[in-house]
Amino acid sequence: MTALEEPLVSVAGLHALVYCERLFYLEEVERIRLADARVYAGRRVHTELESTAGEEEEGTVSRVVFESEGLGIQGAVDILRRRDGRLIPYEHKRGRSAGRKGAREAWETDRVQVGAYALLAEEALGQRIEEGRVRYHADRVTVRVPLDDALRDRVRACIDRARLLRDSLDRPPVTEDDRKCRACSLAPACLPEEGRLAADPAFRPIRLLPVHPKGQTVHVLAPGARVGCSGERLVIEDREANVERVPIVEIGSVVVHGLAQISTQALRLCASHDVQVHWMTFGGGLVGSLAPTAPSAQRHVRQLEALADDQIGLTLARRLVRAKVDSQLRFLLRATRGAPVRATVEPAIIHLRTMLRSLDTATDRAALLGYEGTSAAAYFGSLPALFAEGVDPRLLPARRSRRPPRDRFNALLGYAYGALYRDALAAVIAVGLHPGIGFYHQLRSSAHPLALDLMELFRVAMVDMPLIGAVNRRTFDADADFEELPGKVLLSASGRAKLIELIERRRHDVWRHDVVGYSLSYARIVELEARLLEKEWTGEPGLFARLRIR
Ligand code: SF4
Repeated sequence: MTALEEPLVSVAGLHALVYCERLFYLEEVERIRLADARVYAGRRVHTELESTAGEEEEGTVSRVVFESEGLGIQGAVDILRRRDGRLIPYEHKRGRSAGRKGAREAWETDRVQVGAYALLAEEALGQRIEEGRVRYHADRVTVRVPLDDALRDRVRACIDRARLLRDSLDRPPVTEDDRKCRACSLAPACLPEEGRLAADPAFRPIRLLPVHPKGQTVHVLAPGARVGCSGERLVIEDREANVERVPIVEIGSVVVHGLAQISTQALRLCASHDVQVHWMTFGGGLVGSLAPTAPSAQRHVRQLEALADDQIGLTLARRLVRAKVDSQLRFLLRATRGAPVRATVEPAIIHLRTMLRSLDTATDRAALLGYEGTSAAAYFGSLPALFAEGVDPRLLPARRSRRPPRDRFNALLGYAYGALYRDALAAVIAVGLHPGIGFYHQLRSSAHPLALDLMELFRVAMVDMPLIGAVNRRTFDADADFEELPGKVLLSASGRAKLIELIERRRHDVWRHDVVGYSLSYARIVELEARLLEKEWTGEPGLFARLRIR
């Protein structure tokens, strides 16, 4: 095939298309793949079939690959069997058949799939095929599917429709049959319920994505540690030869702090299991990431087109700044409710309320930056009032200082914001957005603007609140957990370990998202907001940055 020839449509893609056109588009055009338990179970059926290849009865062959330029499709039929001189393609399914007991039928998706295989086999082998069969393992029945003219026409119409969709930049709308979504492996990426909510504010979505992110985050903290692999496990060994083995399927991401080593084999194992790897400095800065991702040309083009529109960018930026200032205000109100220090923070509260009222008058990004900047100054100026009596004064913030942090609290804050940035970047990449194309932050630093945009929503809830709470609970030791150097303060190894534990706990705290109405861990909510952001320019707008932190 030359580069200009049309790629063939996969027969599995036709199966998806009949189920839901959006599923076909997400899987076959945007190349989004999420394997859930059902998908793995389906794969097991096929693996077992393959493992018996070579033991077939005479006249039977497994996993026969066909492709046809004429038909425009390609695929591997599970089994091709010759019976009494007739060729019969078989498709194996893990689930149940359609119809009732005594009148079992194949599902329409399976009819089209086995019909497509029959057309492929017919063309390749030059022999007319009268029927295909589908074996349903859950109820142990085999259903016959006659390859009549109606099915032949149906398969060809599906191929035409698939080609049409493949050439479009527009993602099809969610299916009207919400029962399909509950059984769809791609629901956590598609978010159909949220699409319905965008169309109808009275709609009450149900949660179709897991509460917690996939797998644990493995932090490699010990200086001189080495990460290798053995089979399907990562093996982490420190200088004292302490060894930890973690199955790769239990890992969501690996964070290498400082100068620990990770082998090429381990990186490859991570990449093949969609496990992100991040390298962080001991100061909390993100050096770089290995983030396996599917090709996302359509998503990048749509993002670029949308965010090149100043009005869309301004609307999103205004919503983002409102959410951030509102979360600062709510935190100050909550932390000082009924306390004598309320009077101390009252000027900041008044200022933040005034800013919230003024945001709608901002006609460009520069004006928003101004409002956000004065709000941040008022908010950070109030933070010392939120610390409990008796806290070591060396742990209190003097004023915000970034690179380098000048005091202990800023060292904690900078490190935790670095971890939040890493989460936001990981979510942006996982959703298939381009992190370099933002709508609020500019390309001024080495940081990706869209990740900086997204993290604004979570600074208060995922960093400021838990950090101040931890300092008030005397979690940090002003001597042992920090290193004072000329002109800067850094975390010591014990300080980093405590802070990472605090951040991980917060990432797994479950909180009810007030817009979608269901509960998720904070780590998942970061991803959810990235997906809601993408919906802003894929026909389901209005939900991004509407959440309010309590
Ligand atoms: S979740 Fe629903 S709308 Fe989305 S791809 Fe699956 S079936 Fe289609």
